[in-house]
Amino acid sequence: MARSIEKSCRGIPVSPGFAQGAAQVYRQYAPAPEERVLEPAQVADELKRFRQALHAAERELHTLYTQVKRDLGPDFADFIEVQLTLIRDEEVIKNTEAFIREALRNAEFSYAQTVKSMSEPVARSADPLFKERMLDIADVSNRVMRHLLGDDTRSLLEVAPGTVVVAHDLPPSEAALLDPRRIVGLVLEAGGKTSHTAIMAKAKEIPAVAGTGPLCENVADGQKVFVDGYRGLAILNPSANRLRAYDDEIERRRVYRESLSALTTSDPVTADGRTIDLSANIEFIAEARAAKRYGARGVGLFRTEYMYLAKRRPPTEEEQFLVYTEVAKMFKPYPVIIRTFDLGGDKVLAGYTEANPFLGLRAIRLTLGRLDLFGDQLRAILRASAFGNVKVMFPMVSTIEELRRAKLEVERAKGALKARGVEFDPDFEVGLMVETPSAAIMADRLAKECSFLSIGSNDLTQYTLAVDRGNEHVAKLFDHLHPAVLYLIKRTIDAAHQQGIWVGMCGEFASDLLGMLVLLGMGVDEMSVSPGMIPEAKGIIRNIDTGVAAEVVTHALKLGTALEVKNLLRREMDRKFPHLAGFQFEENKGK
Ligand code: PEP
Ligand code: MG
Repeated sequence: MARSIEKSCRGIPVSPGFAQGAAQVYRQYAPAPEERVLEPAQVADELKRFRQALHAAERELHTLYTQVKRDLGPDFADFIEVQLTLIRDEEVIKNTEAFIREALRNAEFSYAQTVKSMSEPVARSADPLFKERMLDIADVSNRVMRHLLGDDTRSLLEVAPGTVVVAHDLPPSEAALLDPRRIVGLVLEAGGKTSHTAIMAKAKEIPAVAGTGPLCENVADGQKVFVDGYRGLAILNPSANRLRAYDDEIERRRVYRESLSALTTSDPVTADGRTIDLSANIEFIAEARAAKRYGARGVGLFRTEYMYLAKRRPPTEEEQFLVYTEVAKMFKPYPVIIRTFDLGGDKVLAGYTEANPFLGLRAIRLTLGRLDLFGDQLRAILRASAFGNVKVMFPMVSTIEELRRAKLEVERAKGALKARGVEFDPDFEVGLMVETPSAAIMADRLAKECSFLSIGSNDLTQYTLAVDRGNEHVAKLFDHLHPAVLYLIKRTIDAAHQQGIWVGMCGEFASDLLGMLVLLGMGVDEMSVSPGMIPEAKGIIRNIDTGVAAEVVTHALKLGTALEVKNLLRREMDRKFPHLAGFQFEENKGK
């Protein structure tokens, strides 16, 4: 491929923003240690060399751990802590030393053999958590090997400012090193929205595109790359025309964002005086801080399963308690709604397979089968409720029995805490996510048995339209403005209100300008959006009269297709709320 011709590669937008920089292709380190036979007299030196390499690698990891913990929070640093535990693994050390001594082989060969033989059962294990560990094992052993072989230990921490990292994927320790002051963009051949690298990029606000397919081979270090993290495009050798067009858009967005900054401190009150609880969706403490800066009034969805994914193991009650309490204190008196682990579906641990994961052992189904883990989490959440306005909600409920069983576990957790003499909020509220058609249809009956409902439109759309939310082949069919989805949202909101409880929306529907118009017209009480969208959402709320929006919704609900709904909403918005034309939510397609 001629290096100077523009080439546009389409992937999945995983972290919004634009970036232009010089490519640095990240290649996975693949050491090939030679086998050397030692004289018995050389053994002592070889053992020393091994220990030195181990200590150097451990020191590096420790520095990294401290840095990530300081910059991004303790929950993020878990990605590194896992590796610190592995590098200190006494068995690996003991077996490597025995190999050097008994097989009379050099340190790098002995270490490679030991790691290989000890990780084989892990690789074969049916436990998905173990399989994920293989990534860490490879990452840690490569670090030690670099020291043993004296290879260049340059990491992503040392790249030049203005770099766009192009990689197949990044190992966890490298992903944690992404420094936004140096790395302006990220392009990944693999992965999707929920890969650990994508999560890190989003939390650090580095524009990123994932899932481009084979690309690294076509990119040279230093080559110019433009990353469009809104549309999911990586453009190699962008033409002058292309860059001019982007310059215009970047400037428009800059002016736009500046105009929004004044809204950060404004109240989310509609034009006719209704206050909407505008909160944020978060995964990590770093995002909670950003949400607070952007003016969120609480957390509407805390996706706790990332804690699980970061640790590669179930977090303990104590570990969870510390994280939940920090966020609860940060937002007090505003609510922090903690969603119990939503594992399964697209958040599977590497190597775990299920024929239809989204229809399988996911979310509340998985948790109800692991009451030990569920109990730990519920006790941690309840304990945190003594320090702020904490609530819990359950994902993917599809039957009333699931809600009842989950509530029983909440009571059991309360009993255990009482027995321990530990405090929790006596008015602790339990809610549920409406993400399945059955929950929406049964919303009136479910609403009788809980304190609030929060609609997860991403899954509700997926399950209502039978469209896998992560499958690019059917992506065109995924549309949360489909009349069937609107009908279920309306039914849920009405049911909650008839039962006298509040109802919110935490799916991407609430981050879509047209979706917001619909929600305000349907009388939703709360909306939860990603932290960066808070100021924009406030601006929109402040410009909409809910009575007028309700009339628009009445018409929309009579239509037959998503396109008709969209056209009507756009037309009516232009007519009735012309001042909203400047808002730019168009990139949210509701996936
Ligand atoms: C949803 O499904 O809309 C939702 C908010 O949950 P998640 O995106 O985490 O599945
Ligand atoms: Mg969901």
